[in-house]
Amino acid sequence: MAPFKKVLIANRGEIALRILRACHAMGIRTVAVHSTVDRNLKHVGMADESVCIGPPPANQSYLNVPAIVAAMEVTDAEAVHPGYGFLAENADFAERIEESGFTFIGPRAETIRLMGDKVSAINAMRQAGVPCVPGSNGPLDDDDRRSRKLADEIGYPVLIKAAAGGGGRGMRVVERPEDLIKSISLTRQEARSGFGDPTVYMEKFLTNPRHVEIQVLADSHGNAVHLGERDCSMQRRHQKVIEEAPAPGITPDERAHIGKICTDACKRIGYLGAGTFEFLYEDGEFYFIEMNTRIQVEHPVTECVTGLDLIRAQILAAAGEKLPFTQEDVKIQGHAVECRINAEDPVKFIPQPGTIEAFHAPGGPGIRVDSHIYDGYKVPPNYDSMIGKLIAYGETRGAAIERMRVALDEIVLKGVVTNIPLHQRLMRDSGFRQGGTNIHYLEKLLKP
Ligand code: ADP
Repeated sequence: MAPFKKVLIANRGEIALRILRACHAMGIRTVAVHSTVDRNLKHVGMADESVCIGPPPANQSYLNVPAIVAAMEVTDAEAVHPGYGFLAENADFAERIEESGFTFIGPRAETIRLMGDKVSAINAMRQAGVPCVPGSNGPLDDDDRRSRKLADEIGYPVLIKAAAGGGGRGMRVVERPEDLIKSISLTRQEARSGFGDPTVYMEKFLTNPRHVEIQVLADSHGNAVHLGERDCSMQRRHQKVIEEAPAPGITPDERAHIGKICTDACKRIGYLGAGTFEFLYEDGEFYFIEMNTRIQVEHPVTECVTGLDLIRAQILAAAGEKLPFTQEDVKIQGHAVECRINAEDPVKFIPQPGTIEAFHAPGGPGIRVDSHIYDGYKVPPNYDSMIGKLIAYGETRGAAIERMRVALDEIVLKGVVTNIPLHQRLMRDSGFRQGGTNIHYLEKLLKP
């Protein structure tokens, strides 16, 4: 029997479609909510019911909590899946949903709150025995002398980060002592205006790390497993461009060790559902930077190498079901690579909305396309520029890359410019093909 009769999808684009597919496979009816500019989204047409919740600006539609709660009431939905972005990590929303008698498909509101503030997240993780980046261990105050002393102790370069930051925004590298105080005050101002919270903290700026993250799944009966790691080091402006699983060079022992640290932490904080522990990895050491309490854009690469459906797992966990397998049952097999396809200028990276005049999806063994676009679809200018994800799976990393290379060359996408040429270049790049490049690699490569 389906764990819920009806689920409302509080998101748009490819992730809304991904959630809809998981629900329908489980025999769950779906409600799509959309803004006025999104009536023609693929999942809106496929959903059992749809409700328009407001005008294009996200704060009047996809972030409009009363409108979403009202849509749940009128459609009799039992649970809401928030996807990623928008309300996915909004503790007040999760709380409001539960108070209204519905189920939020995600962790408990208090967990989202704890992890949403990076300072409290780091403190909780440190207490749980998770290795963290050397840093201020708490917010910076107005005492300039103390901040200077701290930075001297940590050693330059240091990074000033907003406690409420996210999406690669709200951080500033400080190379020299004379720039420290000014950088703290600038980051504080940005944090106040951008996130409504001026709290900032200090971390050592690691110079050559890779971004390696651990996927976890936990149920409400005290069980937690990890599904191995993903490498998301290919980044531009702290935003991921390519992700892969497993991470090149990580040994089974390293995976088991850091994985156990994460599942122990999950049990300690009463984590529920799917989550990701993000680490920087340098010289064989893991340093926790933050936890994402939601499904992530890059979840398909983990699905490919574990054979699991993470959206399904989230829904089952939210319905109170026990994890149907143990850590020993989780097997990492083969290799998967994901390319994020953005409607953006491939040189200047400026979003380029427009109408898709033609789209021919690639295919063949090991190729997965998670995208909501179709011929005639209009990419609106109001939201993120990602129009889809291309995932390639192979028995080996090399095989996955070759399949990705062929798939990228096979795509026909007319009407909007995309970053496909960048991905084509990266699949042929010797550094990427070798594997294990660090988080600065892409920006260096792109320097004219
Ligand atoms: P966000 O919430 O904006 O994603 P994160 O804390 O996850 O912020 O950091 C995003 C990216 O910024 C990381 O993947 C990494 O590239 C870089 N970064 C974060 N902390 C550090 C650090 N201490 N040293 C070097 N790079 C860092």
